[in-house]
Amino acid sequence: MKERREVFPGDEVAVEEEYLASDGTFASDGKIYASQIGMLELDREEMTARVISPNPPNILKERDIVFAIIADTRSTMATADVVATDGNIRDVGGETYATIHVSKISPGYTDDVSKELRKGDYIRAVVIGTKPSLQLSTKDEHFGVVRSLCYRCKSELVRKGKTQLHCEQCERSYPRKLADDYGNVIF
Ligand SMILES: [Zn+2]
Repeated sequence: MKERREVFPGDEVAVEEEYLASDGTFASDGKIYASQIGMLELDREEMTARVISPNPPNILKERDIVFAIIADTRSTMATADVVATDGNIRDVGGETYATIHVSKISPGYTDDVSKELRKGDYIRAVVIGTKPSLQLSTKDEHFGVVRSLCYRCKSELVRKGKTQLHCEQCERSYPRKLADDYGNVIF
């Protein structure tokens, strides 16, 4: 049997003789208090008291699909800042600094990260690891660059074939690992 009600931080929610302090609570002097706003859940079978937040932080996990902005490229990897998760409008909590190893960028062999990704590119990627740091992959066809601006004139680059972007102002083309829907993603 579960009892539920809304509580606020500091509210006394139970006594330690009856319940164990679990998520969202803390024990002090034999009493259990809420440590966050949320729904109190007193579970009589498990003898636990927990407070469930209505908006838990959106911590990234493996297989999450994310949008990120490339921060830098080096010889063996790119670094990126995760700005959103696909299909979830909540802010990304926890770690947002991510790396993409050169072997995880495209399905083929790549020896030069800068031919695939560039600083400032918006990418869609999948989380492939979270420890010890966030790691992304853009190998699949739905992953890769979804929006990019020309680094010289800042106009929006247009897709040219499967692996090139083109600046109509500068009349130059640049190689990229593109997502299959490049240019059709609304931010
Ligand atoms: Zn340009």
